[in-house]
Amino acid sequence: MNRISYSRVQNVNDALHQLAANNNAKFIAGGTNLLDLMKINVMQPDHLIDINHIGFNTITAESDGGLKLGAMVTNADTAYDKEVIRQYPLLSEAMLSAASAQLRNMATNGGNLMQRTRCYYFYDTSMPCNKREPGSGCSAIDGYNRMHAILGGSARCIAVHPSDMAVALTALDAMVCVSGTDAAREIPITSFYRLPDEDPHVDNNLGRDEIITGIRLPASNFSQHYSYLKLRDRPSYAFALVSVAAALELDADHKIIKARIALGGVAHKPWRIPEVEERLEGKVAGDEIFKEAAEMLLVGAQGYGYNNFKIELAKRAIVRALQQAVNKQAEA
Ligand code: SF4
Repeated sequence: MNRISYSRVQNVNDALHQLAANNNAKFIAGGTNLLDLMKINVMQPDHLIDINHIGFNTITAESDGGLKLGAMVTNADTAYDKEVIRQYPLLSEAMLSAASAQLRNMATNGGNLMQRTRCYYFYDTSMPCNKREPGSGCSAIDGYNRMHAILGGSARCIAVHPSDMAVALTALDAMVCVSGTDAAREIPITSFYRLPDEDPHVDNNLGRDEIITGIRLPASNFSQHYSYLKLRDRPSYAFALVSVAAALELDADHKIIKARIALGGVAHKPWRIPEVEERLEGKVAGDEIFKEAAEMLLVGAQGYGYNNFKIELAKRAIVRALQQAVNKQAEA
């Protein structure tokens, strides 16, 4: 039996001080991933700091026309928020494609960003896994890797990040707001997550002494033409094999003014290549340029056996998502 102590904090300062006092303490909010990992001994904190009462539980308008999502707002309240639906329907659509209604009612926005990979071997403590136990090896590279990365992997890890929310936030240029014991800062979500490289046990660039307090969304013109296309084994409740967050700003002649594309289920972080978006901008929307974008996004893609199919699947999904984004109003 693992002994675990528990405390409840009322503000960020207390949360950070308690975290600093114990190297093996963890924050807990909705607990939808952490508790699962604790039950199977993948994570073994000896102290849980309950942050459910620290505030940051509202969605507020920003002076630039954007929105700030509190870290403690649940995924359900975010996805169904009227302003999120009006200004960022791509985000709402992505969040409603994730998990189950019960999980979305418990999971917080901060927790969603911090969830761990769903690699089978990460959850199986009888198997080597560099992310769980650095230096032990990667069971997925020569194992059953159907769900695994085709982009940005390393010889140490080919896990993918499981969050749908993070994929949409990446397309929407979100900023992750964090507080530390010394200062607060904002991290572009495109820099928040890491590729595995030599240190796959480190998922992101959040400091050990920091906590996520919110997510800032800049004003956006992507509320008309967008699509979150999630391809998975069963539509009710599954992680993405491949997902595509596509957002377009079009003029009256369907010329692309601005484009954003982020991929999920293909890498250790949501995958985005700004040069692809620049290639699309100024062109008339259509299959030919969409196929070119898909090829560019998959440059360097590598399969590991069971996941080879994801390369072609991702290319087709990108084209389909961009088509859906163009036709969104017609479909609505
Ligand atoms: Fe572990 Fe990453 Fe390999 Fe999965 S892919 S077994 S998480 S090292």
